[in-house]
Amino acid sequence: MIVPVPGDEERALAEAVATFARDLGPRVAAAEEEGTIPREVIAEVGRLGVLGMTVPEKDGGLGASSVAFALVLEELAAVWPSLAVGVSVNSGITEGTLVRLGTAEQKRRWLPPLMDGSGLGAFALTEPGSGSDAAALRTTARRDGGGWILGGRKMFVTNLRYAPVVIVLARSGEADPERPHAGISAFLVPTDAAGVVIGRAERKMGLHASDTSSLTLEDVHVDAGALLGPEGRGFGAVAMAGLDGGRIGIAAQAVGIARGALERAERYVRQRRQFGRTLASFQALRHMIARARTETDAARLLALRAAWLKDQGRPFTKEASEAKLYASEMAQRATHTAVQLLGGYGYMRESEVERFARDARATTIYEGTSEVQRLVIARALRAA
Ligand SMILES: Cc1cc2nc3c(=O)[nH]c(=O)nc-3n(C[C@H](O)[C@H](O)[C@H](O)COP(=O)(O)OP(=O)(O)OC[C@H]3O[C@@H](n4cnc5c(N)ncnc54)[C@H](O)[C@@H]3O)c2cc1C
Repeated sequence: MIVPVPGDEERALAEAVATFARDLGPRVAAAEEEGTIPREVIAEVGRLGVLGMTVPEKDGGLGASSVAFALVLEELAAVWPSLAVGVSVNSGITEGTLVRLGTAEQKRRWLPPLMDGSGLGAFALTEPGSGSDAAALRTTARRDGGGWILGGRKMFVTNLRYAPVVIVLARSGEADPERPHAGISAFLVPTDAAGVVIGRAERKMGLHASDTSSLTLEDVHVDAGALLGPEGRGFGAVAMAGLDGGRIGIAAQAVGIARGALERAERYVRQRRQFGRTLASFQALRHMIARARTETDAARLLALRAAWLKDQGRPFTKEASEAKLYASEMAQRATHTAVQLLGGYGYMRESEVERFARDARATTIYEGTSEVQRLVIARALRAA
């Protein structure tokens, strides 16, 4: 079986980002309180090359591997999960789809602002009436002269407030109850187009600095060049294929969240004393850490295996779902272990571990819930 061992270049990229993330550390609490990722932080991530790291060199990026990207997302999430998910959605599903399916003109227009730190890209699939059953979407795209008119409403769009462009999935053909996935197309919609209305930022349980907003499309006119990928086949070619890659990013984010919480808890148990000894000397607590660290390592290997398969151009749908399922569920256990290790202090806002526990909660939900990942894995096993 495959053992994806990161190479020197991949480790070097991850180390550079780890240093950057450590320096960001003191700014995180205030930004989370404020509920935004400061624009200058997005600009710094852009300058570092992280926002274009998986874009091929010929398109202006670093051309780094998916393995390197997974390691980088882990480092960001170990300090700031909100930033990690913003980068994952920008570089994974949004740029990834543009690189895979975009025309030369679409890449020329949209890749630079998604790489240079002037904004973060967004991807709008979910609607008020369709989440897990994404093919039931009702946003419409109808032809208008040489272009298209889009109408409908999208929910929970990550990065929308920072996005120069959002990929919107819409029904461009007749709805056919027998073939709900057919007739769906993807469009590159500039967020400054007339008729684009960005709703208020959702108030969430965690990931407070990550923007999650609704998108209303009021007869938005886009030109013919906005169609991304094959007309009528956007559900498979854009949405599902994009999510396969995105799920590796969320798995890596979950690994980073778990590691970030555990590192803080380990520091705490080494210095906190009860009954005349450090907490770290109690075997019950050492075993809690041993279990959580083992599960974190297992989740990282699953994420790297999926990333490695993607880099090899081999199928990775099942492996990405396995990684996302296991890593996100593991992050719930690990972050709650970290809270427990800090006792009452772990429950307090001042301890960072409570933030990691709240942030982890979203990872079993977005880019497909755990229940949906099990459906995907079971389907792949049946096909084998
Ligand atoms: C912080 C955050 C950011 C997000 N960002 C984005 C984004 O950028 N773009 C975007 O398009 N969406 C985004 N989403 C939406 C997210 O992908 C959906 O919330 C998710 O897919 C679930 O859809 P839903 O909320 O409608 O829940 P539902 O689909 O209504 O599911 C409710 C429950 O029923 C379960 N369920 C549903 N169907 C089945 C089934 N067949 N079998 C078993 N169980 C089932 C689900 O697992 C879940 O537990 C985001 C969500 C959050 C929380």
